[in-house]
Amino acid sequence: MTDLRELYLDLHRHPELSLQEFRTAGVLADALRPLGYEVTTEVGGTGVVGVLRNGDGPVVLLRADIDALPVEEKTGLEYASTARATNSDGENVPVAHACGHDMHATCLIGAAAELARTREEWSGTLLAVFQPAEELGCGARNMVEDGLFDRFGRPDVVLAQHVGPLPAGMIAHGSGPLMAASDAVEVTLFGRGGHGSAPETAVDPVLMAAHAVVRLQGIVSREVSPSERAVVTIGKVQAGTKANVIPETAELGISIRTFNEHTRDIVRNAVERIVRAEAAASGAPREPEFDWHGSTPVLVSDPDATATTVAAFTRHFGQERLIPGAVVNASEDVGVFGTAAGVPTVFWFFGGIDFAARQPGPVAMNHSPEFAPDIEPTLTTGVDALVVAARAWLA
Ligand code: ZN
Ligand code: ZN
Repeated sequence: MTDLRELYLDLHRHPELSLQEFRTAGVLADALRPLGYEVTTEVGGTGVVGVLRNGDGPVVLLRADIDALPVEEKTGLEYASTARATNSDGENVPVAHACGHDMHATCLIGAAAELARTREEWSGTLLAVFQPAEELGCGARNMVEDGLFDRFGRPDVVLAQHVGPLPAGMIAHGSGPLMAASDAVEVTLFGRGGHGSAPETAVDPVLMAAHAVVRLQGIVSREVSPSERAVVTIGKVQAGTKANVIPETAELGISIRTFNEHTRDIVRNAVERIVRAEAAASGAPREPEFDWHGSTPVLVSDPDATATTVAAFTRHFGQERLIPGAVVNASEDVGVFGTAAGVPTVFWFFGGIDFAARQPGPVAMNHSPEFAPDIEPTLTTGVDALVVAARAWLA
């Protein structure tokens, strides 16, 4: 049996970017095989699936994501990542497990081991799914499209968890929509280049982009109902190379978060309408182009299935270790599994911060260079939560 702490340290020191989780997949497959699971790699790219058939009964899918982020780790930990990799744009970037997916993968190996060890006590089938590319929002879909359910069986429930900057040892749960739908669009605005001293001969895409950025702020404040949640962030503005050259084009990278289809349609349509109108207002020689990508549906933790799971958590952990989880505007693609299989998804957060062992002060969030969970009691809690949740569903 793999030492879980060693496994975590190994994954943490060797993070890999989304769609490049080759070493990670190998390490996880090697940890899973001796536990008695039928292990298949390269499912939907770099996904790993372990199947434990243990008689008649429900099929339970436990999912962990395994990818890291292009972030330079600044936790100061002795086991901090110093890894670098080439991203999809060909740039050399630092890589770190700044979202804690190394913790998720380690917890799932721990749970897989415990459920295999105690197989006399339950019956059914366990699917341990290690999903790549969560940070791109495409990993779950890739696995489903690679025949996940046809090849390994259709689950009755999908169970998954995420570590966060909550007190370690605690489980935060919620019911219904928990995490936002995410859409991203790359916009290209077309102007006409020219000399910076002669703007009358050009169409300036920089001014066009600037107006669009300001006008887009009006979507959430003026077009979405105040009772709805939505976010529009323009995280990328790029144009030009030199102060005295009016460029040909400008690019905007826009991220959208919503919680239902109606609001999502309003926001997406408004983005296109406003950008087109600003281009027209500037006399653009060409219509703007929109490249929509990276779409993740809203994550819904099924109310009935969540109630069943949380009741099991309450029996195991006690009410004092459970807290209500906040709805967050970040996104998660695990719901794709449940939706594709037509079964409930249950999702919860578990704490990763041992506040007693840390200096007082602000705690870094996921995706921060300073984010890393304290290994214990985070690891034990994450393993226990998966085991307890799975046992709530297995016969
Ligand atoms: Zn993340
Ligand atoms: Zn994450």
